[in-house]
Amino acid sequence: MLKPQKLEKVLIANRGEIALRILRACKEMGIKTVAVYSTADKELMHLGLADETVCIGPAPANLSYLHIPAIIAAAEVTGATAIHPGYGFLAENADFAEQVEKSGFAFIGPKADTIRLMGDKVSAKHAMIAAGVPTVPGSDGPLPEDPETALRIGREVGYPVIIKAAGGGGGRGMRVVHREEDLIEAAKQTREEAGAWFSNPMVYLEKYLTNPRHVEVQVISDGQGNAIHLGDRDCSLQRRHQKVLEEAPAPGIDETARAEVLARCVQACVDINYRGAGTFEFLYENGRFYFIEMNTRVQVEHPVSEMVTGIDILKEMLSIAAGNKLSFTQADVNIHGHSLECRINAEDPATFMPSPGMVKHFHAPGGNGVRVDSHLYSGYKVPSNYDSLIGKLITWGSTRDEAMARMRNALDEIVVDGIKTNIPLHRDLVNDEGFCKGGVNIHYLEHRLANQ
Ligand code: ADP
Repeated sequence: MLKPQKLEKVLIANRGEIALRILRACKEMGIKTVAVYSTADKELMHLGLADETVCIGPAPANLSYLHIPAIIAAAEVTGATAIHPGYGFLAENADFAEQVEKSGFAFIGPKADTIRLMGDKVSAKHAMIAAGVPTVPGSDGPLPEDPETALRIGREVGYPVIIKAAGGGGGRGMRVVHREEDLIEAAKQTREEAGAWFSNPMVYLEKYLTNPRHVEVQVISDGQGNAIHLGDRDCSLQRRHQKVLEEAPAPGIDETARAEVLARCVQACVDINYRGAGTFEFLYENGRFYFIEMNTRVQVEHPVSEMVTGIDILKEMLSIAAGNKLSFTQADVNIHGHSLECRINAEDPATFMPSPGMVKHFHAPGGNGVRVDSHLYSGYKVPSNYDSLIGKLITWGSTRDEAMARMRNALDEIVVDGIKTNIPLHRDLVNDEGFCKGGVNIHYLEHRLANQ
């Protein structure tokens, strides 16, 4: 057997909990690390654990974590051989992936062309239809500007419909249309917004599903013909399209539909010669899956899949980027038990306003089946410049009830003093009757918050 290849030195082009997660995986594998940081981030925990650190610019992300020349220069001066983008920032920027590879470094993620293909939702949908992945019925291409054709498509799909920007992301650039007489104006407005926000005015039309769940499939593929899935996750508890609490596997899914969609996702990875970790996002309604988009990176909620499979997604990403084939087959993947993840944000639990500042005291919970992915420590000052995610509380149990009981304990034990967090919201959610039953839809949390 060939000896597995290994990356020598990885530059971590990110911050916070995911930078620490990447660093831990590198250290486990004996890979050297370079941590980059902005001037607002000198106190980040992983800087003290990395082999080398480089300041890449001032606090605003566009001058540091999004500044491609600064990151490539940092890789050059430190002799890094690969760059891990984490999530957010440059993780799904095809131009960045291209420049990284052109500069002679390995990009820990898919090829730039794949990121481009999946980053445009219209081309992504085409690729999925070709691979036999079920999609939401709709225009299956750009919505034409000609009003007559647009109205005909709307009528065929049936109202309500949703108009979405091909280049959209982060829950922006979407408009729901309930009546035919509003379609043309809504399409015009969404086109204008899409042009301004995403530099791409192209929009498309889909059937608007009224009460779906968000269920997604984790895949890993080596770009050498081998692909596997690590089962599904339910991320239906959302506020303003932002996930709040996730779990694996998704409860109460029709087993035939599940087996079919998992197999289709794996085949799609082979068809597009996907390299790295990725996620196919679906809406699930009345026992059927409908593809909405693919994320070509590691996701915040990847730990719940790691907990139920025992597979380390980050280590596998690093191995694939070094040129190795997948280190296991689908037959090695057994979904065992259940896992939950609460995203802990530095924010007011009632108003959701960000709450940066000094963490006077941090106590991490522990015990059987409890995992904390967080860069917090007592005395750490959460800067106001970035996303409010300060950690993830993850539990595993042999059943969903056990994972839930462990989460209740962990939420009772955790202490974050000095700043406001959404921990009280999570304490409510893990005791919520509807959520405990399982299978709530994507509107559940917002309805619950509105009726409090
Ligand atoms: P983004 O890339 O901005 O996150 P997505 O395509 O993933 O956009 O959609 C974000 C959210 O918008 C979904 O999780 C869902 O809540 C809602 N959504 C998108 N498409 C539809 C649809 N066809 N029907 C109902 N809701 C939708």
